[in-house]
Amino acid sequence: MNKRAFVKLLALMASNRVIAPMFAWGSERLTNWAGNLVYGTDRLYSANSSQQVRDYVKREGKLKVLGTRHCFNDIADSKYGFLSLKAMDEVVELDPRAATATVDAGITYGQLSPYLHGKGFALHNLASLPHISVAGACSTATHGSGEKNGNLATAVTGLEFITADGELLKLSRQDNGEIFQGAVVGLGAIGVITKVTLDVQPTFMMRQYVYENLPLDAVKEHFDAIESSGYSVSLFTDWQKQRMNEVWIKSRVENGRAFDAGPTFFGAKLATKNLHPIAELSAENCTEQMGVPGPWYERLPHFRMGFTPSAGKELQSEYFVPRQHAVEAILAVERLRDSISPSLMISEIRAVAADTLWMSPCYNQACVTIHFTWKPDWPAVSKLLPVIERELAPFKARPHWGKLFSTSPAALKTIYERLPGFIELCAKYDPHGKFRNEFLNKNIFGS
Ligand SMILES: Cc1cc2nc3c(=O)[nH]c(=O)nc-3n(C[C@H](O)[C@H](O)[C@H](O)COP(=O)(O)OP(=O)(O)OC[C@H]3O[C@@H](n4cnc5c(N)ncnc54)[C@H](O)[C@@H]3O)c2cc1C
Repeated sequence: MNKRAFVKLLALMASNRVIAPMFAWGSERLTNWAGNLVYGTDRLYSANSSQQVRDYVKREGKLKVLGTRHCFNDIADSKYGFLSLKAMDEVVELDPRAATATVDAGITYGQLSPYLHGKGFALHNLASLPHISVAGACSTATHGSGEKNGNLATAVTGLEFITADGELLKLSRQDNGEIFQGAVVGLGAIGVITKVTLDVQPTFMMRQYVYENLPLDAVKEHFDAIESSGYSVSLFTDWQKQRMNEVWIKSRVENGRAFDAGPTFFGAKLATKNLHPIAELSAENCTEQMGVPGPWYERLPHFRMGFTPSAGKELQSEYFVPRQHAVEAILAVERLRDSISPSLMISEIRAVAADTLWMSPCYNQACVTIHFTWKPDWPAVSKLLPVIERELAPFKARPHWGKLFSTSPAALKTIYERLPGFIELCAKYDPHGKFRNEFLNKNIFGS
């Protein structure tokens, strides 16, 4: 397929208002959102209550919880049976004094955010899309952007789990210290999360501006200034022509003031219309830009609820690099441009603050993330991943848990210093491996 035909096909898919159905394209079988993975079983049990979760967990020898199925790899896969908490999607309690919200694990950010805003509250950050479940996103350390913003799991102050023996386990940041830090980014291995308590803050308004064609030289010289220019900053690039195609700057409106958008930004030009990160695609599914003020949950994500996010039929990979190596790492990937480009739709570079969650890629280190949205061509992408990982290895790059990577279990062991403690934690709550699958056996327990 030539580039024009491919872009046309993507445009058609991206403007599709219907989110991918449970049984996705072409396949009669249960798949992940992208459709690149047919799950190992179609056995899916939907629970409506904590009691049903407990009964199911007690009954089954092996199972996995499915969130909104947005991971690109087999982290959520099972050969035995799936438990869905999709129907458990209520806000259980909003506590203004403690500034926390407790939610059922099946709720998505798209459901939760307008509710919070309506009550005068906000979350600190969101991912590029609101369609994902809170429990699934936090379990894989899903993140947005912003130098001062930790990943979404850093907002978790409390969790309720059903452990492998069907017992209720409550953990909180306040009462359970290190165990809590180990359990939050739990990769689905500790138990079934039934409730999540999140930090909230007073609601706020934001403005989003997009600039086009930021010279690579400006990234080299002014990376810190560029990244700190807004509350959340994303650079999009196809790695061609020594430039970042687009810079998305999301800033908070404080006392009526926000980012002062001049016509140029380090050599980039202010866009004159809303843009999709892949400029050829319609911006219909993107959040409002051009400085139009709007609530946080309609500006922090790039993609709007109710529309297909991103391009639709795609693969994704992402690597977290310690912040101090940002420019070196970006230049290392840029040198691979001719190999990468034929398989790439777009790359995104973001910043994420350091945290203390054991299995978070930002554990004890502020990071930049280098993300790849790939064309759905796994044979080609699978050959590129080791090449990119080799270039990023000197920086001890950590792969995103929910995206495609080929980093070896031995390498994961060296870059996740708390992995041994995490394995012990899993063994404590799931001694017989009820929640383990091939992904966990290979990458966590086999390492
Ligand atoms: C278009 C698109 C855009 C994306 N953008 C971003 C982005 O901006 N930033 C980013 O970091 N990631 C992004 N991702 C990746 C994605 O959001 C994460 O990987 C996230 O985990 C998806 O959540 P989910 O509920 O769909 O998880 P699933 O894929 O359903 O499950 C992920 C893991 O969580 C576990 N899990 C889910 N629910 C529970 C529960 N109740 N109890 C215990 N374990 C549970 C599952 O067992 C599995 O191990 C994107 C993905 C897509 C498809």
